[in-house]
Amino acid sequence: MFGGEKHSTGRKDHAECSGCSLCLLVCPAWRSAHDPRMTPEGRAKALQHGATAADLAGSLESCVLCGACEPVCPENIDLVGMTLDLRARIADTEAVEATNRRMAEPDTPHAPAGTASDTVLIPGRALSADADALRRALQLIEGTACGDEGADILAAFAAGVPIPPARRERFLKGLRRARTIVVEDGLWLRPLAQWLPGMRVAGLGEALSNLPSVRAGVRKSDLYVIEPRAYHADYERLVKHYDRLRADRDCAFNLDLQRIAIPAAGQAEWILKGLEVDRIVVERLDDAAAFAGACALPVVHVAQLADH
Ligand code: SF4
Ligand code: SF4
Repeated sequence: MFGGEKHSTGRKDHAECSGCSLCLLVCPAWRSAHDPRMTPEGRAKALQHGATAADLAGSLESCVLCGACEPVCPENIDLVGMTLDLRARIADTEAVEATNRRMAEPDTPHAPAGTASDTVLIPGRALSADADALRRALQLIEGTACGDEGADILAAFAAGVPIPPARRERFLKGLRRARTIVVEDGLWLRPLAQWLPGMRVAGLGEALSNLPSVRAGVRKSDLYVIEPRAYHADYERLVKHYDRLRADRDCAFNLDLQRIAIPAAGQAEWILKGLEVDRIVVERLDDAAAFAGACALPVVHVAQLADH
């Protein structure tokens, strides 16, 4: 349980796991450690045999919440929700108290958004810090930036730490007036669906790559890095979206043979292997550092393509 709310989305739970191992094949934790205990199958099977959340602490830590396991699971198990619920059960008391104290401090930079734009963007850390890329992104989506980017809330959500209701309300205040919320990190889709039911929430990568001026800037020689969390959360629809982009521009993507988006963090070298590209385009600017560290190619944010 998490702050009184369950993460699960109404899909099936671990009891339905048949042990088919399809989730294991696409999981970045499996790719890096080759330890079945660090996979969604490992967790589901352990729970079936009586393991507790505490028994799975190491396995839970290995999950980067990319969501790649969910679209491949033939039993339609809410695997990301399972991880979040288990994390919430073992959230360290000290971490919870520290989070509560930090979020309650009145002078922390949690200014109310104060925007009444139809479209409000929640940028990630890197995009927030890059004034030029942020300005271009906002111009393209014709929106305004959320005055409170909620990084503390998203971190707490991912860690299973309950979010104080007063902090959550302060964050949501500026978002309630929006008609559409655009998120750079797809992990926002899950809590926003719970907190603002009926609100239209879209990924920034999809919003920008839908625009003709941006699409025209994608080159055949680009590696286009899809943001995995938003992509896997709406997999069937977005497979078609990126298939159209591929047909239009013929660029390379961070997709494996099953069309699963491989997370950039920790896997940039693996993604680049065998590719002949001369530029990297990232949908989430936080992914740029992983590629900049793995190669000497220029890395640009998708919002910067409209100028090229
Ligand atoms: S969300 Fe990603 S890292 Fe976590 S279990 Fe699923 S595939 Fe593995
Ligand atoms: S894909 Fe689903 S059913 Fe198959 S092993 Fe993974 S969790 Fe179990």
